[in-house]
Amino acid sequence: MLPSEVEEQVRKQFEGGGAARRGGAGRPAEVELPPVITVRELADTIKANAVDIIKELMKNNIFGNINHQLDFDTAALVADTFGVSAVPQAVDQALSANGSGDGVATLAKPELFSIKGDDPSELVDRPPVVTIMGHVDHGKTSILDAIRQTRVAAGEAGGITQRIGAYQVEKNGRKITFIDTPGHEAFTAMRARGAQITDVAVLVTAADDGVMPQTIEAIQHIKAASVPMIVALNKIDKDNANPDKVKQQLSDHGVLIEEYGGDVPLVPVSAKEKTGLNDLLEMILLVTEIAELKANPHKPAAGTIIDAHLERGRGPIATVLVQTGTLRVGDNFVIGLIAGKVRALLNEDGKKLEEVPPGAPAVVTGIPDVPDAGDILQVVDSERTARAIAEQRAEQRRRTATAGAPRQRLEDLYAQIQQGGVKDLNIALKADSPGSLEALKGQLMKIQDPKVRLRVVFEGVGQIGESDVNLAAASEAIVVGFNVKADEKAQAAAEKQRVELRQYDVVYHLTEDIEKAIKGLYEPTFRQVYEGKAEVRMPIRVPKVGNIAGSQVMEGKVSRGSVAKLYRGKQVVIETKIANLKRFKDDVREVQQGYECGIELADYHEFEEGDIIEAYVLEQENP
Ligand code: GDP
Repeated sequence: MLPSEVEEQVRKQFEGGGAARRGGAGRPAEVELPPVITVRELADTIKANAVDIIKELMKNNIFGNINHQLDFDTAALVADTFGVSAVPQAVDQALSANGSGDGVATLAKPELFSIKGDDPSELVDRPPVVTIMGHVDHGKTSILDAIRQTRVAAGEAGGITQRIGAYQVEKNGRKITFIDTPGHEAFTAMRARGAQITDVAVLVTAADDGVMPQTIEAIQHIKAASVPMIVALNKIDKDNANPDKVKQQLSDHGVLIEEYGGDVPLVPVSAKEKTGLNDLLEMILLVTEIAELKANPHKPAAGTIIDAHLERGRGPIATVLVQTGTLRVGDNFVIGLIAGKVRALLNEDGKKLEEVPPGAPAVVTGIPDVPDAGDILQVVDSERTARAIAEQRAEQRRRTATAGAPRQRLEDLYAQIQQGGVKDLNIALKADSPGSLEALKGQLMKIQDPKVRLRVVFEGVGQIGESDVNLAAASEAIVVGFNVKADEKAQAAAEKQRVELRQYDVVYHLTEDIEKAIKGLYEPTFRQVYEGKAEVRMPIRVPKVGNIAGSQVMEGKVSRGSVAKLYRGKQVVIETKIANLKRFKDDVREVQQGYECGIELADYHEFEEGDIIEAYVLEQENP
């Protein structure tokens, strides 16, 4: 057909009834299109002839063959001339169509790195990835440094090395990758974002100090992640080292070492004297050997960002741990909402690399913006695809930003039970003392319901912190605090990660809420938040109303509608509502500290000079 004939045909479609209807000529009325599609794929999707599409494009000064890539807008316009409406395909599908698997936005899905369905002949061994955890000052950094130095001794590293967030060493001809940001905060922050990068966790415990609060936290985080553990019993060079005591303490906290009949290996080391480090490396290889860690280097690369920052003169740089496929210079990629192209790949010695295999870390330059640790980098086939996916994700995020309901809410439990099956209710517990923690757990465990499996995934004494929230997010848990508050960072993290925080000061209220949630009787509960207080100077007679309290606001503010507690001395005379507030003759909504006002309470008029009215606003605890 000549272009003129195409035109004719298109005109006929629109003029001639039948075919002009949406979905006419055997075509679908509506199709979902990915951000980028080739002419051939578009032809298949809208059931049109590829040559006709090419001609249609020519009319718009776009020249290309059947492999020519069209962005969504162009493809949608073309589809429209064939009587087919196009809507954008969800991001997940767009990515899997690209062969890179992943799901929504920046959250990683385990499937992305899975080798299920890969051709076994394409799989190769990959190095294990190790994270070091433990209490502060027990020697995590020293161990990481001492192991790193074995590289220098082995002649692997030359010149200046930089901390890039991860490094590799070779042992018995096999590589091991160490994550160089010790501590469980980073580990859990990544896990909260869906990134499970660790194959084995090394729990560093100082032989002279034993199991300490962060050791216990680390144990819980490792267990929650179901990652194999090796204990590195550090500082055995010290005179006051007491290995037996530490082993006993570990077993008291559920870490049963091999010597005690358990399955957790323990390796005595001294980072200071550099002893036991080879044994530790060998143990890491032994533990991970069973796991048969494989990856497919032939796929488009994907991996997790483990470190990122802005560097003077170089712009944003990030360290990525490649987990599947091979990352190459020139690859186009998306990281969350960022689209870019790999300009250079560097190892920690600053050496330029052409490609990075699975299981290895590398610094990536060419990223237009600084990503977050835990973000996923995914290679796509073209710059256009990368940009289209990033834009689509941004759009999706804008749409869902306001609709971010918590991942797990007590309120939704009943609805989930109704959908069938046994439901897990995961709880991260924080309390003010070991005693109340035990009491609380005891009460929780008494709640028996065939449809709900209650699990305390984490417990600890002290304020609710950011890492508690991260752990809860990673375990789809709600955070319950008993007589403790959540600090600001924790609150911000909870909001960002949509984790439900619940605070109680009466055990019974917690168990009652859970029981109600299970039975579907859950109702919103409210918490009183202190607003301010006023002192009554004199009762004022108001016709038809009765006495109101002529007062001065001494602290904070009081507002209409708030809960009022009227104190006479230490006694609460009445708890009621502030029915109205007056400044001179005007009704006002609130009165600030220092000002005089008239306070009208609901159903109470017997004010006396010197009475104190405290005001509280009600905040829903379970919005
Ligand atoms: P981190 O907070 O767990 O990273 O601990 P560091 O690695 O910073 O070590 C804390 C302190 O313990 C430092 O003063 C180290 O020099 C010291 N240290 C670390 N490992 C050993 C060891 O094996 N023996 C001795 N005697 N001291 C050590």
